[in-house]
Amino acid sequence: MADRKVRVRFAPSPTGPLHMGGVRTALYNYLFAKKHGGDFILRIEDTDQGRFVPGAEEYIIEALTWCGIMPNEGQSFGGSNGPYKQSERKPMYRQYAMQLIESGHAYYAFDTAAELDEMRERMKNANVASPQYNAMIRSSMKNSLSLSEDEVKTRLERWDEYVIRFKMPRNEEIRVKDIIRGWVVVNSVQLDDKVLFKSDGMPTYHLANIVDDHLMDISHVIRGEEWLPSAPLHVMLYRAFGWEETMPEFAHLPLLLKPDGNGKLSKRDGDRLGFPVFPLDWKDPETGEHSSGYKQRGYYPEAFINMLAFLGWNPGTPQEIFSLDELVQSFSLERVGKSGSKFDPEKAKWFNQQYLRHKPNQELVNEIQPELKKLGIVLNDETAAKFCDIMKERASFLNEIMEGAFLFTPPTEYEEQMIQKKWKPETPAVLAELNKVFFTIEDFNAHTCEVAFKAFLAEKGIGLGEIMPILRVLLTGKGMGAGVFQLADLFGREETIKRIETGIKKLG
Ligand code: GLU
Repeated sequence: MADRKVRVRFAPSPTGPLHMGGVRTALYNYLFAKKHGGDFILRIEDTDQGRFVPGAEEYIIEALTWCGIMPNEGQSFGGSNGPYKQSERKPMYRQYAMQLIESGHAYYAFDTAAELDEMRERMKNANVASPQYNAMIRSSMKNSLSLSEDEVKTRLERWDEYVIRFKMPRNEEIRVKDIIRGWVVVNSVQLDDKVLFKSDGMPTYHLANIVDDHLMDISHVIRGEEWLPSAPLHVMLYRAFGWEETMPEFAHLPLLLKPDGNGKLSKRDGDRLGFPVFPLDWKDPETGEHSSGYKQRGYYPEAFINMLAFLGWNPGTPQEIFSLDELVQSFSLERVGKSGSKFDPEKAKWFNQQYLRHKPNQELVNEIQPELKKLGIVLNDETAAKFCDIMKERASFLNEIMEGAFLFTPPTEYEEQMIQKKWKPETPAVLAELNKVFFTIEDFNAHTCEVAFKAFLAEKGIGLGEIMPILRVLLTGKGMGAGVFQLADLFGREETIKRIETGIKKLG
């Protein structure tokens, strides 16, 4: 099978918004597909109609699009292997369930809910810890293996409700080869006769998943660790169908853990832990409850993706900043770890900060200009770029750059503490002289300001620490923050001189 085309799928169930763990699964599928020149497919697994949540499918598509990991085939993306939504494939599953009945790998089961409860009760009384419908008890239940042929026929003819169950062999070693975990070996005695086809005419996840992976010619199944317990059944299904030759290879990804390492990071964590678990904002259509998303929190999709890639994988080098293309080049399932990956919200911010800092200035300017305009601040691009330069040193997000918007309004109050500490009787005169120096600088910018300022202090024998903090307070109102000369450059000569004069008047 060495020359088989790589085809992978991301197969979420639309039971709610896509969790960041789900996005990571999609991302690894995408990276693997692109690395091997293969296809990345989006399949919506909505066989469990009871758990359907309106808006979830659209959310999934929007989230993948925002992240830039676009399927080249799948629900809403088109392709020749559709439909890509299982509810739209409904008519094609029954024949596969029937095929398994005919070959003796599955059977009809007519047991009612009450009869199933009774069985569990009976088993519990016989000290069976977790009762299962399996090879041991199937002969005592109402199914096409235990009932006479006539009775089965009658029941089918009078439309009795039934499910179709897989006939799990009694005592067989099942070996699953996992790319990340190696061989996983399970004895079938631990497995039950899973329902493959439900009484409502819908296949269960297991049947639909195997049939679709086969029909869509999936070469690798890359999914979360929570599906590892299902893998032996899936291997048995491939065998039962006679599809072993084209069975996909499996890779089960490690869990995403809460920051303290205590348990799985779950959808229910919402914003409870102080960070989002979803890529985009989500409003629960039933409860109206709102959960925030990375996008709306101000994350760049590139940073979000870069951060997610490192939750379970590492390149084996110290490099941490990877574009999507670089991730594609470097990614391999062999470098995905087995153990759970702790999510670190601070590290997530760090990734965004890196992307913010390294963004070309013009791009940042384009992002910031509309935000400034909303506040009625009109700057030319050159000034906006200076503003970004000053603010991005301390920011991880665009809105933290915007926190500097107050700079464009002359201060009306000055930080009391700093004034008390530094304002001396001679300060007004020194500042007035300094203003004269600023007035005469030929080409007023951060560098010329600094040079002139330092020369002035040296001549007067004044220490830097005496006057610099005062200057910052007069320019911004605050005792701490951006560099004074960068600020002077941002404001320009006229405004700088004016702010200093106002300060002298108010405080002198
Ligand atoms: N529908 C499953 C889910 O919601 C897909 C599991 C798989 O990839 O096989 O995660």
